[in-house]
Amino acid sequence: MDFAFDARTEELRTRLLAFMDEHVYPAEKTAEEQRAELASPWDTPRIVEELKAEARRQGLWNLFLPDAGYGAGLTNLQYAPLAEILGRSPQLAPTALNCAAPDTGNMEVLFQFGTDEQKKRWLEPLLAGEIRSAFAMTEPDVASSDATNIETRITRDGDSYVINGRKWFISGAMNPDCAVFIVMGKTDPEGTDIRRQQSQILVPRDTPGLEVRRAMRVYGYEDHSHGGHAEVVFKDVRVPATNLIGEEGGGFAIAQARLGPGRIHHCMRLIGMAERAIELMCRRAVARTAFGKPLAEQGVVRNWIADARVTVEQLRLLVLKTAWLMDTVGNRGAHTEIQSIKIATPRAVVGILDQAVQLYGAGGVSQDYPLAELWSSARTLRLADGPDEVHQRSLAHRELKKYL
Ligand SMILES: Cc1cc2nc3c(=O)[nH]c(=O)nc-3n(C[C@H](O)[C@H](O)[C@H](O)COP(=O)(O)OP(=O)(O)OC[C@H]3O[C@@H](n4cnc5c(N)ncnc54)[C@H](O)[C@@H]3O)c2cc1C
Repeated sequence: MDFAFDARTEELRTRLLAFMDEHVYPAEKTAEEQRAELASPWDTPRIVEELKAEARRQGLWNLFLPDAGYGAGLTNLQYAPLAEILGRSPQLAPTALNCAAPDTGNMEVLFQFGTDEQKKRWLEPLLAGEIRSAFAMTEPDVASSDATNIETRITRDGDSYVINGRKWFISGAMNPDCAVFIVMGKTDPEGTDIRRQQSQILVPRDTPGLEVRRAMRVYGYEDHSHGGHAEVVFKDVRVPATNLIGEEGGGFAIAQARLGPGRIHHCMRLIGMAERAIELMCRRAVARTAFGKPLAEQGVVRNWIADARVTVEQLRLLVLKTAWLMDTVGNRGAHTEIQSIKIATPRAVVGILDQAVQLYGAGGVSQDYPLAELWSSARTLRLADGPDEVHQRSLAHRELKKYL
C-alpha cells in the first residue's frame, strides 16, 4: 500500500486548502449572520450560493463522484484527503463543493441505477447544484436500523405507485431547495425473501400528499447546514411507475450500494473535524493561562493533545486502507474495513472533541466556537448510516464464522 498523494491529489489539496482559507472559514460567521436575517431559517444564505459559484469556477466541484463524465473522476484514495479538508468546516465546505450528504449518495444511486429520463430530470440538476435532495428510510414507529422493519408501503396501481408511510430524521428535507426524495418502502410486504420486499422510488417534493411536518432537532440544534432533519408524512402520494429506481424488490441492494461510499465519506470528514479540534486545542492551550502557567504547560493537556494526534493518525491510516481496498477490490471486498472505520471513527472523534470542549471551558459548549456543534454532529454519526452496535454485530459475525 502506498498512501503518498499522487500529483493530481496534491494539486487539488493545495487549491482546496487555499479555497478554505480564502473563502470558507471567513464565510462561517457571515453565513450565521445572513441566516438570522432570512425569512425562513431553512433558506440558503446568499454566501453559500457565492461559495458554490466560486468553487465551481475553480474546478473544485463534484469531487466525490468517481465517474469522470459526471464527476471529477477521483478514486476513493484520491478523494479521501480532500474530504478530510472539507470536514474541517462541515457546515459549509461540503455544500460549497457539491459534496454534501445526502445529495452525494442520491447522486450515486441515480448515476448507478437511474434511467436516462431520471438522470436528466434529477441527476443533472443535482450535479449542477441547482437543487438538493433527501433520502427517506428511517421511521419513528419501528427500529429502522433493521431495514426489514420498514413499514412504508409502495403499492402499484395501474401506471402509478401509491406511497403511504411516516419517516423522520430525513436530512435536507427542511431546505426548500430539496426538490426530490428517494423513498424506501415495501412493494412486496408478504414476499418470502425479506431482502426483496423493498423498493426505492423518486418522489418530487411538490407531489400532493407529501407533508414535511416538522424539523427534528439534534441536541437542540436545528442543524441548518444539512438543510434540517425533517419528519415527513406520505399520505396516498401518487407518482408515475417510471419513478421507481431499478427494479421492484431492488431497494435493499440499492441501499447497500449507497452506504459504502457514504460511510467512508463521513469518516473522511470526521478526521477533518478532529484535525480542527486539535488545532483549536493547541491554539487555546498556548494562549490561556491558569494557576500561573499556560494551559499548554499542564501535563494533562499535553496528554490530551498527544493522544488525539495518535488517534487521528491511526484512524487516517485505516480510512486510507479502506479507500484503497474499495478502489482495488471493490466495496464488497472492503466490507469489514468499511464497518471498522464506521465503528472506530465517530467514537474516537467524539472523544477528541469532548476533550477540546473541556479545554475551552464554558466557551467550549457555547456558540462562539465551533466545538459544540462539531461534537453534536460527530455524535450523530454513531447512529446515522447504522448504529455502532449493528456494525459490530455483523463484523463479529464474519469474524466468528471462521470458527463455526
Ligand atoms: C442527524 C441524523 C440524520 C439522519 N439522517 C437520515 C436520513 O437522511 N435518512 C434516513 O432515512 N435516516 C436518517 N437518520 C436515521 C438513522 O439512520 C437511524 O437513526 C439509524 O439507522 C437507527 O435507526 P433508529 O433510530 O430507528 O434506531 P433503532 O433501530 O431503534 O435502534 C436503537 C438502538 O438499538 C441498538 N441496537 C439496534 N440493533 C442492535 C443490535 N443488532 N445489537 C445491539 N444493539 C442494537 C443500538 O444501540 C441502536 O442505536 C438520521 C439520524 C440522525 C441522528
